[in-house]
Amino acid sequence: MKYCARCGSEYRDDVERCEGCPSHPPLVSAEEMHSRGLPLPHELDRRVFVRAATTDNPLMVEVFAELLEERDIPVFIRAGRSGVVDKLTTGNLLPWWEILVPEGEQERAALLVERERAQEAATNDEAVRAAEEEERETEPDASPPPSP
Ligand SMILES: [Zn+2]
Repeated sequence: MKYCARCGSEYRDDVERCEGCPSHPPLVSAEEMHSRGLPLPHELDRRVFVRAATTDNPLMVEVFAELLEERDIPVFIRAGRSGVVDKLTTGNLLPWWEILVPEGEQERAALLVERERAQEAATNDEAVRAAEEEERETEPDASPPPSP
């Protein structure tokens, strides 16, 4: 059997990549899972993994997971579905992801994720401001809107 180190899913040996994770990470052996401090699916109940954060941004899922792994915090990503299904009004649902860590690491992990999120938001704000300024500079004098 092979395993996804991101979400903990179990796969047949001939499968190369996880289908459930946004980045389709390559699968690893059981030994590799253990060396990273991650339990196999049938061992999961021995260690309590709790939610450190959630995100609906597939890019941030990877950013957060890598951030925590760099700090030697074992991470699991679990795909969730937002809210209550209402096919009449929306028809589709945005996926979201839970970032799970060992219970003892929850506080540290949540803090790291929040810091990263704030940093990301600040970067986005700057990018938006820069784009707006550029627009103002290059924009010709606006002519009055045509009357109806
Ligand atoms: Zn996966």
